[in-house]
Amino acid sequence: MSDAPTSVVGSGLSGLAQALPLAKGLLARRLIASGRTPTPYEFDRRGLRLAPGEQTILQQWLDAGLVTRVELETRSRDGTVKLLLALQDGKKVETVAMTVGACCVSTQVGCAVGCRFCASGLYGVERHLSSDEIVEQVVHARRLMPIDRVVYMGMGEPSHNLDNVMAAVARIRDEVMISPKRQTFSTVGGVKPLERMRQFAARPCLALSLHSANEQTRRELLPRAHKDPLPDIVAAADAYARDVGTPVQIEWTLLAGINDRDQDIDELCTLLKGVRGFVNFIVYNPVDGLPFNAPPIDRIVAMVRAVKSRGILATIRNSSGPDAEAACGQLRLRDRGNPTVS
Ligand code: SF4
Repeated sequence: MSDAPTSVVGSGLSGLAQALPLAKGLLARRLIASGRTPTPYEFDRRGLRLAPGEQTILQQWLDAGLVTRVELETRSRDGTVKLLLALQDGKKVETVAMTVGACCVSTQVGCAVGCRFCASGLYGVERHLSSDEIVEQVVHARRLMPIDRVVYMGMGEPSHNLDNVMAAVARIRDEVMISPKRQTFSTVGGVKPLERMRQFAARPCLALSLHSANEQTRRELLPRAHKDPLPDIVAAADAYARDVGTPVQIEWTLLAGINDRDQDIDELCTLLKGVRGFVNFIVYNPVDGLPFNAPPIDRIVAMVRAVKSRGILATIRNSSGPDAEAACGQLRLRDRGNPTVS
């Protein structure tokens, strides 16, 4: 049995940071994040010779490894890989590595927002993920393919776990060497969390999950999202994006007969007047048991044209990995060993 202090064994990358001097701890974490083993030679050649006690601590940490473990890897025809990760308490989350170099990470076990069209919110939220559990998702993804972009669009609502997610943004910058400008925080909004985000030093790009510009329809689709008036949420998102210097990405999951009508486009364009942003239409991915469909492709194209004709940039996202249930809205707790939450 190991006699290492419990603060090192199974303490995650943050435990390693605390156990070693600053520069050595950072080097160790950078090597681990890039898939290399932090051997004494790696420290020597950078003029950071490890003392014998430090070597022992590092070896004890390496023997214990990361705090998350890949339990299942599902590969899609387009090369997308969905990872089912087991956490130390037995709970499970999913992470998606995409061949375009992006990693979609989860921020909570489950999600409290309960969007009607999303598998992740079907069973409520169980707990927040720690910053270690978020950072490690990128570390696992990088072992499969080159990753230079992180999107906080997996299971969970990042603003409900704001401190840990923003800590992960800074750590991914420092340890995984991916700039906050290459990270996108996707949220249903809320004036207070958006204002709080402006106070952090490492600030990611922002995606606002709008899905409808009509207050009543949005409340029906996103029943437990913040209840702030939509113009206030959009204004707070715009202010944040202007601070950061990148436009706000407005996400709109396309649901036939619900948010694909001319009236929906009118309301959207009116709401976005003066906002420095663009619309990203997401083609809905089917979820078993949910009564939604994507609009036909000609309708989607017409919507993009209508938005562009009002002077707002619009794009269509066809999510990666739908055949592996790795696409937007398809990550779920069910059958993953997590007890359900009522
Ligand atoms: S779409 Fe996002 S916010 Fe909505 S339930 Fe799913 S994970 Fe939560």
